[in-house]
Amino acid sequence: MVWQPNRLTPKKSIVYMKHYKFYEQVNHNFDKAAPFTRFDKGILNQIKVCNTVYKVVFPIKRDDGSIQVIEGWRVEHSHHKMPTKGGIRYSHKVDEDETMALAALMTYKCAIVDVPFGGAKGGVKISTREYSDRELEKITRRYTFELIKKGFIGPAVDVPAPDYGTSAREMGWILDTYRQMSDDLNAEACVTGKPIQQGGIRGRTEATGRGVYFGIRETCNHKADMDKLGLSTGVEGKTFVVQGLGNVGYHSALYMTEAGAKLVGVAEMEGTIYDPNGLDLKALMDYRKETGSIIGFGNSTSLKGKRVIFEQECDIIIPAALESQITIENAPKIKAKIIAEAANGPTTADAHEYLKERGALIIPDSYLNAGGVIVSYFEWLKNIQHVRYGRLNKRFDEASLMRIVSEIEQLAGKSFGEVERKVLTRGADEYDLVDSGLEESMITAYEQITTIREEHNLEDLRTAAFVNAINKIGIMYEQMGIFP
Ligand code: NAD
Repeated sequence: MVWQPNRLTPKKSIVYMKHYKFYEQVNHNFDKAAPFTRFDKGILNQIKVCNTVYKVVFPIKRDDGSIQVIEGWRVEHSHHKMPTKGGIRYSHKVDEDETMALAALMTYKCAIVDVPFGGAKGGVKISTREYSDRELEKITRRYTFELIKKGFIGPAVDVPAPDYGTSAREMGWILDTYRQMSDDLNAEACVTGKPIQQGGIRGRTEATGRGVYFGIRETCNHKADMDKLGLSTGVEGKTFVVQGLGNVGYHSALYMTEAGAKLVGVAEMEGTIYDPNGLDLKALMDYRKETGSIIGFGNSTSLKGKRVIFEQECDIIIPAALESQITIENAPKIKAKIIAEAANGPTTADAHEYLKERGALIIPDSYLNAGGVIVSYFEWLKNIQHVRYGRLNKRFDEASLMRIVSEIEQLAGKSFGEVERKVLTRGADEYDLVDSGLEESMITAYEQITTIREEHNLEDLRTAAFVNAINKIGIMYEQMGIFP
């Protein structure tokens, strides 16, 4: 399907799913892919359901002495591989349906990028801005305690990570709480996304955004797709906008601009800014730190609302905030030809159908934002191996490279300069290896998805990604002992 700039009314054939909840939307995408696999209904049903759903309610004493009841969830969607893995979200919008949807997405995501985990997700229904750091620590530790009590956390069982509203700090609190209650030798592997000093890994903070960049780069290098969209290949020179300048949005924008793309619009809680001449990301971050807002930055135009960002002129839109932001209502106003889903579930199923009909290219969340779980997997491996990547081989590699360089110098009869010699003989450290592993995983997964798309003559990458996931998970369930 080639890009159709003027077809603005959704076709009658689109099934409107305005009232579908998030989990139903994920299952709708699954159901579209299922017929392209060989599995029977029973196996498909087993893959789709959430294996365990744990709701927890506990009180905390606030700084003013009052008691507040907090609600939280942990959902383990699939036990076909262990441990299960998935972030913990802090948001006032968290509920059981959202946590189930995100857990299911984690299962498919892990399968798509060959991370050997089942999917899980956690959530606590709080708005972080309404709590002091002390209160957030109390909530995190108590939530962790509840997970420990019911066996919903552990290096071999279920391994949380950061998500919307949480960061390395919360993961550090989770590890400390777990460690106080367990003498597990591998305790550090009970959670990922930790501070480096507590067993974290270099490159995890930026991993999701870095993976988003690798995924967009692979897509933009696919000539046939770019031809259909009437775009040139490559990231360089393309314009893009970002919704949400948090961990994922900021790092996606950072690597996109480093690769020569132009950031022309940003939406945050306080509103939207747009400048067709480009926004300086670093200066914008400093400006927001200073003024508490992106509004009024540089020569940008300020626009009311947050979703208005999607209507701006650009090549790529990167939703990096929350789910259900691109809907059947605002999709017809989208001018961008590529939608790069950095957030989880940002496009509703009906908006996806409409955009696909119009010829837009959607890079699906289940693939595009997998960078976080890929590097979390590396962190988990590091923790159970009890050794930092590069520690055993870095100096050895450098000495070997030095011998090769000396040999070349002797044969050539001239010497390299000091800087050249340093570059040529540098051994890989932890960050280099993590980054290289992340890039390799994103490239391989993209190749797998495009191969499946071609094999089944599928129009969209999302369905191809789901087919890929179902194929890998289905085999595991087929081989599993099903008790009479
Ligand atoms: P974050 O809390 O670091 O940042 C989110 C940002 O979005 C915040 O700055 C917030 O102010 C802003 N925001 C919220 N609602 C908005 C709106 N309506 N319009 C504009 N801005 C808005 O969260 P994050 O970790 O960057 O996660 C963002 C998304 O990426 C989520 O969907 C999350 O599930 C997904 N994700 C995160 C990771 C990860 O490693 N952190 C991994 C995979 C997927």
